[in-house]
Amino acid sequence: MSENQSAPAQANPASIRFEDFGLSPEILRALADQGYVNPTPIQAQAIPVVLQGRDVMGAAQTGTGKTAGFSLPIIQLLLAHANSSASPARHPVRALILTPTRELADQVADNVKAYSRYTPLRSTVVFGGMDMAPQTAALRAGVEIVIATPGRLLDHVQQKTLNLSQTQILVMDEADRMLDMGFLPDLQRIINLLPKQRQNLMFSATFSPEIKKLANSFLSSPVTIEVARSNATNENVTQILYKVEEESKRRAVAHIIRERGLKQVIVFSNTKIGASRLARELEKQGLKASAIHGDKSQAERMAALESFKKGDVEILVATDVAARGLDIAELPCVINYDLPYNAEDYVHRIGRTGRAGASGDAISLVTEKDAKLLADIEKLIKKKLVPTELPGFVADAGHVSEGRSRREESRGSYGGERRPRRDEERGGRGAAAPLPRKEKIDPWFLKPYEPEKPAPVSALESSSAPTSAPAPASKAASSGKSQKPKLAALLGGLPKR
Ligand code: AMP
Repeated sequence: MSENQSAPAQANPASIRFEDFGLSPEILRALADQGYVNPTPIQAQAIPVVLQGRDVMGAAQTGTGKTAGFSLPIIQLLLAHANSSASPARHPVRALILTPTRELADQVADNVKAYSRYTPLRSTVVFGGMDMAPQTAALRAGVEIVIATPGRLLDHVQQKTLNLSQTQILVMDEADRMLDMGFLPDLQRIINLLPKQRQNLMFSATFSPEIKKLANSFLSSPVTIEVARSNATNENVTQILYKVEEESKRRAVAHIIRERGLKQVIVFSNTKIGASRLARELEKQGLKASAIHGDKSQAERMAALESFKKGDVEILVATDVAARGLDIAELPCVINYDLPYNAEDYVHRIGRTGRAGASGDAISLVTEKDAKLLADIEKLIKKKLVPTELPGFVADAGHVSEGRSRREESRGSYGGERRPRRDEERGGRGAAAPLPRKEKIDPWFLKPYEPEKPAPVSALESSSAPTSAPAPASKAASSGKSQKPKLAALLGGLPKR
């Protein structure tokens, strides 16, 4: 990065229309289908710059509309090559979008498909935990835009089902999370496979020194686009904190959900076991809850998300890794069952609500032992947060079993949320980018990249999963089939009756 320019002063998006960018009628038609009228601030800034072919370093949180901010101009730029030939050779990979998680990859892919639906451009998504064969078939048929998680992308390169030699545009979405998850070596390998002459777009919610270093290494004279201060919390989100006793937290969550009549809420837990237990407890109390975390198979996570979007499930209990990048429109409320270990996760979590201009509430339960975590959050967001009593809630001291569960949870939480398996989680940890959450890193992530052998995926998944991973989830993940692991197995045994 020889020079770092800033985008022109932020325009008032209400006075700008998508037509003003010179986007093709096919793209405008797709946007009309989506019901988008005006570009969001990040779109208003990013679209013209990307259309000029410039590199971009975008500081944007999820929920700002950044996906369309990079997808729309990419589609526009690639239209010059669009053709309806059946020959795969006429559809080389021209744009590569890398994301840290399967969910985000899937979500970005859905957006790209929607925005390019009236053009002859082809796109596909590849991520781990799914059978490689359908992905291989899509890649072999020829696609201009590939959305991928890094590990599975390298597997396809290794198996020669993907050629990146004609890639003109590289997008790194949620770059901070990719570094956090130990993807730096994989990213470097991927960058080495691309032509030197290309356009690079990097988006990140936060800009740590490591992210700046990565940006310096591969962006060329980027335009910096910033729509919100790094680590800033969205002004549309009301932050509410309630003081509770450790033993009463699950009941407090149920109380809040009932009192507020919440019909769509994400509850964040720091641990997988905590998420499962809370979901089970809420279900016992007659609430429609489901847990998503790294031990659940891809198919299960997708199914839970679908049910949540449809309203069949009203409460999604999630860990940070599983929830990262989930786009659920108009989520009115999120609840932090635990304050996160990492203050930046607080910003990401509460960014699930108050999206695209809507208002939302972010409720956090705070216990006495959370003082340090709370202080870290206040320091990061530069705002004092004052916990108050939870109205109408009577704490009950006689919850011996809950007390025992909490102790078990703390034991289970030693490693925090295990990173998603296979490709999202694979990758060594580069000396160049020290990871901020050392205590949460499974040694498995320190291993160098090992290409996937052309063997049945199920065998690879079960052999390469960390020992802590329960076998049923691994198998289900690899086959893509929903083999729901028994709840008792998830919790490390059958519940005593
Ligand atoms: P993103 O930050 O890309 O995940 O987008 C956040 C949400 O905003 C998604 O639900 C998008 O569908 C929505 N969105 C993106 N662009 C616009 C727009 N111009 N107008 C209204 N909603 C939008």
